[in-house]
Amino acid sequence: MTILKRHISLVRCRAWPSEVIGDYVPLKPRGVKRRGEWIGLCPFYKEQTPSFTVTNVKGFYHCFSCGSHGNIFEFLVQHQGVTFQEAVLIVAKKYGIKLPSGKTNTTKKNIKDRKRRAKKIAKRKARKEIADRESLFGGDEE
Ligand SMILES: [Zn+2]
Repeated sequence: MTILKRHISLVRCRAWPSEVIGDYVPLKPRGVKRRGEWIGLCPFYKEQTPSFTVTNVKGFYHCFSCGSHGNIFEFLVQHQGVTFQEAVLIVAKKYGIKLPSGKTNTTKKNIKDRKRRAKKIAKRKARKEIADRESLFGGDEE
């Protein structure tokens, strides 16, 4: 089975990097919460001070200690030793996303609309997450 590009971005739009990576690495919210930044101990390198960050808005993880960097799928490839396609399927399964198999008649306009909708949903979700976090953790912990 081949996973189409648009399916990959569909999964990527729906997934929260901190949730996906948080399944494998204990993460804590940190700093400017509006950007949805999370931090934890690097899973690729033994360290005592957390320097492994996950930024939800950007959709990337980055380690200041060993320099590993990538999106959620690349994380799974690197951390779980799966293939890129398997990584997409793991995340899709986590979010209950059914990837359509075979060809679908999708016009460019449809894709654009869908992307716009996904962005809207993501924005709404981000706002909600920030509100939840703030009520959970109280004030800033800096
Ligand atoms: Zn590292």
